[in-house]
Amino acid sequence: MAKQELKCPHCKEWTVWQGQLHDRCINCNALLEEEKINKLNKLAAKKEAQEAVEQAKIAKQNPIVRKISNYAATLFIGIILSIIAVVVLVAG
Ligand SMILES: [Zn+2]
Repeated sequence: MAKQELKCPHCKEWTVWQGQLHDRCINCNALLEEEKINKLNKLAAKKEAQEAVEQAKIAKQNPIVRKISNYAATLFIGIILSIIAVVVLVAG
């Protein structure tokens, strides 16, 4: 991603944006991508909540199935989260 000028959503002044998620405004030091970061955090929290529900379901199953499911679920959620992160970063 290229370095570019961006209007800060906080102080409405132009600042330098290097395309990074955690870039800060050169004028007021606010996070330029705060909204996007919040969005990502929210998605992560949602996934965690779903994971907790899955864990509760799995807890009722027998130990071997539980162990396999646990591993598969972790792997699956990791992949999904990566895809969501990429989509959010690209599409905005
Ligand atoms: Zn600012």
